[in-house]
Amino acid sequence: MSLVADRLNVVRPSETKAMTTRAAELRDQGVDVITLSQGEPDFKTPSAICDAGIRAILYGRTKYTAVAGIKPLREAIRKVFSRDHGLDYGVDQITMGCGAKQVVFNALFASLDPGDEVVIPTPCWVSYLDMVALAGGRPVLVPCEEFHGFKLRPEALQAAITQRTKWLMLNSPCNPTGAVYSHGDLRALATVLRRHPHVHVLSDDIYEKLTYDAAFATMAAVAPDLYARTLTVNGVSKADAMTGWRVGYGAGPLALIKAMNLVQGQTSSHTSSISQYAAIEALSGGRTHIEEFANAFLERRDLVVGKLNQADGLSCRVPEGAFYVFPSCAGVIGKRTQDGKVIETDTDFAMYLLDAFAVAVVPGSGFMASPYVRISYSSSLDDLTRACDRIIAACAALS
Ligand code: PLP
Repeated sequence: MSLVADRLNVVRPSETKAMTTRAAELRDQGVDVITLSQGEPDFKTPSAICDAGIRAILYGRTKYTAVAGIKPLREAIRKVFSRDHGLDYGVDQITMGCGAKQVVFNALFASLDPGDEVVIPTPCWVSYLDMVALAGGRPVLVPCEEFHGFKLRPEALQAAITQRTKWLMLNSPCNPTGAVYSHGDLRALATVLRRHPHVHVLSDDIYEKLTYDAAFATMAAVAPDLYARTLTVNGVSKADAMTGWRVGYGAGPLALIKAMNLVQGQTSSHTSSISQYAAIEALSGGRTHIEEFANAFLERRDLVVGKLNQADGLSCRVPEGAFYVFPSCAGVIGKRTQDGKVIETDTDFAMYLLDAFAVAVVPGSGFMASPYVRISYSSSLDDLTRACDRIIAACAALS
């Protein structure tokens, strides 16, 4: 009898991890690998936020907290929802966990019965699939074409909904495509959702603050009549460069939030008390760093898109948000590398970039969409320039 439970068989091996491991091996051999596979800002956590964390330690705020998080932080989150989106939540309708990831997991674990379906537009953050499967649900993938901006169309949503559909997952700006749903896009999806009152919306807004040419919109605000069946998830990881502090939050219907707290109460209990105090500073301070980060990302995005579109066989749309580009590599499929290997998939292409040109990216198959690669532009302009030049050279060397 195996010690490891069969239920874990539903979790797919991580493509990101495979690339990271290979990149680490090469680096150990002394190769100058440029990593464009990371899903986190390269900026430091702003010093005012760090100071708040240090103060929390010095003042002894190092004890257990409420499972849903400390009241002053939930109050700060309540104000952010109200100020930024006109969304009114009571503090009891707000919960937080170790990153937005745990909040999403708690929601799925607290709500899915075996066989319940979750509609996931693809390309998507692949953790959604694994979390749904681990919670006993069934992911229903809906491909979203590049010519529709990688966004879910209302008719595709309508076709995917069944009596078993419990959730629609929305992620805007999207990891990996950077696509941003406009107010109008969400209104069109809301029209479909009104016909199906049993379907809930999980709106993962973790990249909210990183939009460039598009205005951010979120379902509960766009369609107030869907407020009661929407869970809005957000956090400080990406906007405030706080990935390691592990603070994410969710706001939604009271019964769901209570159930999520029940799940978390038997796992992590709560996220770190120190991080919670730091997050109050992040959310209540001026947050001027966000504009700085967004401006830096915008400059990098434009550099990367411009360069990648010079690479033979790649075509890269301009993403409206997050810090990823998702170029198609259809034009390199079928070509041969210098040592005669045929590039058959985006994984082959990503491995070729890493092994022969020391650039780490993630294949689109890791986001349920091929043939694409995800390139994170969360690196210095200098590294991005060098990496893109290597990619251009790698494409030119194929025959
Ligand atoms: N949602 C999406 C779409 C993400 O890409 C990520 C992280 O990569 C998360 C949620 C998780 O964020 P956190 O670090 O706050 O758990």
